[in-house]
Parts: sequence; C-alpha cells; structure tokens
Amino acid sequence: MRLIDGNAIAQQVLAEVKERVAKLAPIVPHVAFVRVGDNPASVSYVTKKQKTAAEVGMKASLQLFPETVSKEELFAHLDALNADASVHGILIQAPLPKHLPETEVFNRVSPDKDVDGFGTQSIGRLVQELPGAFAACTPAGVVELLRRSGIETTGKHAVVVGRSLIVGKPAAALLLAKGCDCTVTIAHSRTKDLPAVVRLADIIVAAIGKPRFITADMVKPGAVVIDVGINRVPDATKKTGYRIVGDVDFDAVSPLCEAITPVPGGVGPMTVAMLMKNTLDACERAQARG
Ligand code: NDP
Repeated sequence: MRLIDGNAIAQQVLAEVKERVAKLAPIVPHVAFVRVGDNPASVSYVTKKQKTAAEVGMKASLQLFPETVSKEELFAHLDALNADASVHGILIQAPLPKHLPETEVFNRVSPDKDVDGFGTQSIGRLVQELPGAFAACTPAGVVELLRRSGIETTGKHAVVVGRSLIVGKPAAALLLAKGCDCTVTIAHSRTKDLPAVVRLADIIVAAIGKPRFITADMVKPGAVVIDVGINRVPDATKKTGYRIVGDVDFDAVSPLCEAITPVPGGVGPMTVAMLMKNTLDACERAQARG
C-alpha cells in the first residue's frame, strides 16, 4: 500500500503557483472571498484559504454578510466584484442559507472570475472539454493527486460515489475527459447493490459525507482510493471533543489498496492549492485579454 501524501503534493503545486505569481509583478492576483453567516467550518476554510493566498504572494479580500442578507444585497456586491478589474477570482463559501438560491448565486459570478467552477458556464465548458475551463477545486485536486502520484488512469474503471455539483459530478467529468480517459460510473444513494458496483472499481472516489462508509468488502484488492470525505466524529481524547475522518474505513481498506489518500492530509490541502492555481490562471488570462 502506498500513501498518497496530499500535503506534499499540494506544496509542489503551491511552489509552482508562487513562482508564476512572482513573474506577474507588479500585478498581484487577487481572490475575493464572500462569506455569509458564521458556520464554523466555513470560517475555518476561508481562513485557511486566505492564509495560503498570502503564502504564495496573492491578495485575498473577504466580505462578510449576516445570515439574513438579501439576495439583492449579495448580488450588488458580486456585481461590484465582477466590475472591479483588480479582482481576478471570486469565491462564495458554501453552504449558503436556505433563502439564497445557490445556483443563481454561483451564476452571478462572472465566468472569467469563477475560480470555484460552480457556474453553469464553467461546468458546461468543463464537460465540453474547452481549454481554460475552471474545474471545481476539489475534483481538480483529486485528478491532480492521481496525476502527480503517477497513477495510470487510461482505460481504468473509476467509480465516483456521490453526485454533488461540488464534488461527484465534476470529478466524474474530469476522470472521463481526454487525458484521464477513465471509464466512469457515478453511484449515489439510489444505486442498487452499491458494494457490488464499488467492487468493480480500479479507482474509487468517495464523496458521500458519511464517516467510514466505504468498507473493506466494497474494495477490489489493488484499487486506488481517493477519499474526499471530511467528517467530524466524537473523540473524547481530543481537546475539541471530535476528530476528522474520511468516507473510507481507512484502517480496514488501506491494506487492500495499491494507493490511498489519508484524511486529513489527502484531498483537503489539494482543494486549497487548486483554488490558488485557478486564481492565478484567471489573473494571467485577464492580463492576456488586456
Ligand atoms: P453532498 O451531501 O452534497 O453529496 C453526497 C453524495 O453522496 C450525494 O450524491 C448522495 O446521493 C451520496 N450518498 C449519500 N448517502 C449515500 C449512500 N448511503 N449510498 C450512496 N451514496 C450516498 O456532499 P458533498 O459532495 O458536498 O461532499 C461529500 C464529502 O466530501 C463530505 O464529507 C464533505 O465534507 C467532503 N468535502 C471535502 C472537500 C475537501 O476539500 N476535501 C470539499 C468538499 C466536500 P444522493 O445524490 O442520491 O443524495
């Protein structure tokens, strides 16, 4: 079994980003974060992303809104960010409160600045395999982990468990696209005999949101397992009272695998690194457009 070290691979990506950022001087790539409410996970994700932006020499700004913000007020802010030539990427941290229609909010971001890749144009461009499409950061991180770990994907059967807009669907599109060339199955909560479907996989991408959901009986020996899950489980030995585990039963599954990502330290750091790469790409393209 080989452990895929997401921290180390994310550091490689970030080192490359930092080098390209330096070459753009005096222009500084700028990612604008928008956070609605105080969801503790969102607060910590945005803080981490701001810190990483600073480390690679990018500017990160943050606009906070209360849970009660109206769609109109939020849209006015997004319109201002879209019009501001000094802003290259815009990220609205999900989840949003129920009264804000997520798809409409994501679509309000200019496609040129949609570094999160959730807008209709970005997803369409990704599926059309157009150059320069912004791929959602977590699935882009999944594919980058495979690529930089030297894992052969061509002709391999990838089973993606989960069909969300944020992870499952774009992960499947990226694995299917030319370059990765996987045969892709997408499974979800209505899939019949899920263990039998997952057992077919050469590559498993687990994006379910349920702790240790993928068990050893679902894994073909020699499979590669990418665990996207981030779940808090109670742990009295921790100061916080919880610890983070993935969607895969790591202890039971890892001895069977050719390679596997840990949680934490697998996909998580790649998500942040790919956001920086997308922002840099957005900035470089804005310069090229003049
Ligand atoms: P969602 O809740 O949006 O999607 C979960 C998917 O899992 C759904 O498609 C759902 O199916 C499927 N599912 C749920 N239960 C079952 C089941 N019993 N059998 C088969 N499929 C099931 O979650 P996300 O995609 O947003 O996130 C998935 C996980 O990844 C979470 O743990 C999240 O925290 C983590 N995550 C990690 C990131 C990172 O940077 N590492 C970034 C984003 C997310 P259905 O559609 O039928 O309901």
